[in-house]
Amino acid sequence: MPAYQTPPGTFDVLAPQSGRWQALVATFARAVTGAGYGLVLTPTFEEVAIFHRLGDSTDVVRKEMYDFEDKGGRHLALRPEVTASVVRAYIQHRPTTPWKAWYAGSNFRYEKAQAGRYREFHQVGVEAFGSGDADLDVEVMALGWEFFAALGLAEVELRLNSLGDATCRPPYRAMLLAYLSERRDQLCDEHRERLEENPLRVLDCKRPSCRAVSAGTPRQLDHLCEPCEAHFARARDGLDHLGIPYTIDTALVRGLDYYTRTTFEYVGLALESAQNAVGGGGRYDMLVEQMGGPPTPGVGFALGVERTLLACAAEGVFAVEDLSPAIEVFVVDFAGGAWARDLTAELRAAGIRCDRAFDARSAKAQFKAADRSGARFAVVIGPDEAEAGTVAVKDLGSGGTDQRTLRRADLVAEMGKLLGAG
Ligand code: AMP
Repeated sequence: MPAYQTPPGTFDVLAPQSGRWQALVATFARAVTGAGYGLVLTPTFEEVAIFHRLGDSTDVVRKEMYDFEDKGGRHLALRPEVTASVVRAYIQHRPTTPWKAWYAGSNFRYEKAQAGRYREFHQVGVEAFGSGDADLDVEVMALGWEFFAALGLAEVELRLNSLGDATCRPPYRAMLLAYLSERRDQLCDEHRERLEENPLRVLDCKRPSCRAVSAGTPRQLDHLCEPCEAHFARARDGLDHLGIPYTIDTALVRGLDYYTRTTFEYVGLALESAQNAVGGGGRYDMLVEQMGGPPTPGVGFALGVERTLLACAAEGVFAVEDLSPAIEVFVVDFAGGAWARDLTAELRAAGIRCDRAFDARSAKAQFKAADRSGARFAVVIGPDEAEAGTVAVKDLGSGGTDQRTLRRADLVAEMGKLLGAG
């Protein structure tokens, strides 16, 4: 075993697998920029206080934060998610609204590492600020839905709930707390002790004891105020009109505390149920204000890149071989090596994907490398060609039968034609 390895819960991605990552982000970027979302880049670490706004009772904040003191004595944390940073950026820069932003990047959570659950993982996501219109919820949900479809995923389920707002959440919370208090001894150890802090967390607890109790709890969806009811109806109506199927999941509270009204999750049905959420999001109409900004509604989602790729693998779609553009030309030079250096530079400058071997390998070894590269053509230059000012072009797919000789000065133009014709 090598002395140094990736830390638990992290991994390397090498080519050609990494081509799927590039293609996934490119597919996402295409979908969201086409709907008016602009790329936002925020730092990977922030003041820890920003993330406390996600909810001090959540696992993400209580147990999983990578926080540390820097050399200047600042208390910082590697981001466990991106929404809080984007909200911070919104408040700091105050772009005109509606402000629609997308991002792609890594997050850090000190979780128990397992398949589909990592300590450094990646997300792509969108956030839209400045409108409380339920049509914006629909736009956001549809973008995620269409992105999964663009990858070729067919077995994704959209689950939908509403968590109410500042009017109807407090009375519901009180009702839920009363219900759970009566059954406190049936809850898991953690929630028995921490029930008052946030009773909604019980609904998100995966332990069998809490699950059994939460099966019978009152649900926010049955206790929405009128505006929340209307908002939810409009969101459902939008999904119906766009032909996006969904299921109502009254137990969906999500792992972070900032959500109001619409909450949703995309579930990859081809994945194992413990780690089958490929993404999720919702409205967070109070968060900007809670973080010190002007009252500004917001809605967004984050999709897990690793989980999404696992779902693609499980469904057998978005395969590597379709994605990485292969080398087109391989230069085989057994006339000294300087030709390979110069011709690859010339071909690349003309936009032709080409490669070569190094270390003055034998012609045989170079042809082997050419085959392995997947290139369609070998450009061959030996002492005879070097002398004559020519190159030989071999169609590698033809088993060596299709070969022609070109003047070196014509190589780039002729290769362009040959590749174009293919
Ligand atoms: P969350 O920010 O917890 O709502 O997560 C959004 C999405 O990110 C989830 O649906 C997962 O696809 C993904 N995700 C969250 N945590 C992890 C993790 N530890 N490892 C891999 N993916 C994750």
